[in-house]
Amino acid sequence: MKYPKLRELIEAVRALIKGPYTSKFPFEPHVPEKRFRGKPEYSKDGCVGCKACAEVCPAGCIEVKDTPDAEPPLRRLELHYDSCIFCGQCQAACITQEGIKLSSKFDLAIFDRSQAIESIEKELALCEGCGCVVGAKDHLAWVAKKLGPLAYSSPTSYLSVLKELKLAYLGIQKSVDLTRQDRVKVLCPKCRREVTLNT
Ligand code: SF4
Ligand code: SF4
Repeated sequence: MKYPKLRELIEAVRALIKGPYTSKFPFEPHVPEKRFRGKPEYSKDGCVGCKACAEVCPAGCIEVKDTPDAEPPLRRLELHYDSCIFCGQCQAACITQEGIKLSSKFDLAIFDRSQAIESIEKELALCEGCGCVVGAKDHLAWVAKKLGPLAYSSPTSYLSVLKELKLAYLGIQKSVDLTRQDRVKVLCPKCRREVTLNT
């Protein structure tokens, strides 16, 4: 029992000389440590809307809302940071490594938890055969860019790039009988299989 008392005495003397360990927050701004894991934030340019962050989030606090009937069709990622455990898995799994980052923001208390949302919206690419969601346009373009010349083995990939460059214009024609010429379209795996088997 003697040693803990001695240690406390040393700490008390040290605090008298160096000042207290506690900070004066909120009266003085607190600067978190360099690798502090605070509120996750999306980057408009870095995120391609692949939803990998939502898949890996152990707290299940990232919601993916697809609205294919909207004009333009949209994917909205909603991160409910009131349920976030600041583990950093979303940042680690982000395919671009630029889409989501844990900031140093820690003072997140609010009165209405439903307002604790960090979100991003991305335009969707729809299947030109059946109109179902193929993926976010930016995601398809990102994959095609990563593949390089290999992207030309998949019409969905290279057409996504050509559309981005405004060199291809193809509309959605839902529930049409897919014919041979439909091979050169942005298609979901189901329609692609139908075209390949039937034509
Ligand atoms: S930091 Fe962890 S809990 Fe928070 S959104 Fe990212 S993956 Fe989910
Ligand atoms: S690009 Fe990164 S931040 Fe955007 S949806 Fe994919 S994993 Fe999430």
